[in-house]
Amino acid sequence: MIYPSFSESANVQEPLQPANPTLLIVDDDLSTLSGMELFFSVQYDTVTCDNSESALAVAQQGHVDLILLDVNMPGMNGHELCATLQQRATTKNIPVIILTGSIDDNTEFNSLNAGAVDFMPKPVDLQTLRLKVENHMKLARHRRELSEMSYTDALTGVANRRYIEKILRRECQAAVRTEQPLSLAIIDIDNFKDYNDTLGHQKGDQCLAQVAQTLKGTLRRENDLIGRFGGEEFMVILPNTDLAGAEGIVDQMLTKLREAAVLHPASDCSNLVSVSVGIASYSPDLLSDDELNADALFAQADDKLYQAKQNGKDCYCS
Ligand code: GH3
Ligand code: MG
Ligand code: MG
Repeated sequence: MIYPSFSESANVQEPLQPANPTLLIVDDDLSTLSGMELFFSVQYDTVTCDNSESALAVAQQGHVDLILLDVNMPGMNGHELCATLQQRATTKNIPVIILTGSIDDNTEFNSLNAGAVDFMPKPVDLQTLRLKVENHMKLARHRRELSEMSYTDALTGVANRRYIEKILRRECQAAVRTEQPLSLAIIDIDNFKDYNDTLGHQKGDQCLAQVAQTLKGTLRRENDLIGRFGGEEFMVILPNTDLAGAEGIVDQMLTKLREAAVLHPASDCSNLVSVSVGIASYSPDLLSDDELNADALFAQADDKLYQAKQNGKDCYCS
């Protein structure tokens, strides 16, 4: 999984992962480079570079899981490359193991100080190095998983409350700054207490996950985001989307949910699991800049949700 950054993708999605982890090997000595590549290519996708500048370019393209880095190279040396990788958001989480033949009292300190996770003097024992590579890849994977847990709702797989609220605040600011519309939908499952009471909490949990994924399936734009912010309540943020656009998407959500046809044995509005939706939109033409804040937009959508419930549920109000 890739970390969703606000500017890139606010959606919590599973991107395609390469089959094997990728190891970038950087050394100006070509025989070292080819020997290491031969050894590690059995287990990893390997990329080799004979200088720091091209290694930086490769690392910035993403998909590098660990770097084996020589120190003494013409141009930028290994310590400098390591420090540069540390400063960039796209590369700072890639573990670097520094390998060098010129050892003095400070080499190990300088390597770790530049941000390397580990150090090995040359000539390296390849079997030991393999174990170090495996360990650091495993640790990096655990760090990624922990970070994902901090923005994903475990039950439904959509964004959690903390994350969706943070994105709502940022999108409100962005809408005012860029003079673009912004829409917000609040979605509440109808008669969900009765669903739990009739079918049990476990079925209720399954239903929640299915509804969340069905709703998420209608979102097409990269920056559209759905999150769960309460028990059976979801929030959908639609940047650069006016009221008519938001109504179109919510219409699709209601249709998709009917097509999913999850039976609800105790609903007062349908024989299927349904939702009610409140929609609010910010339009730069209609409001002065200081009139948009996340709380106000939320309150409006919540108000409309209440109306949708009053209107008999299984519908939206905007
Ligand atoms: P309405 O149509 O007016 O929205 O009625 P409702 O029953 O959906 O709303 P109410 O707020 O009365 O009840 C919400 C219920 O959602 C309460 C609880 O049984 C259920 N619920 C909340 N969180 C969870 C959860 O994590 N798992 C399950 N299974 N149920 C949950
Ligand atoms: Mg509710
Ligand atoms: Mg409800």
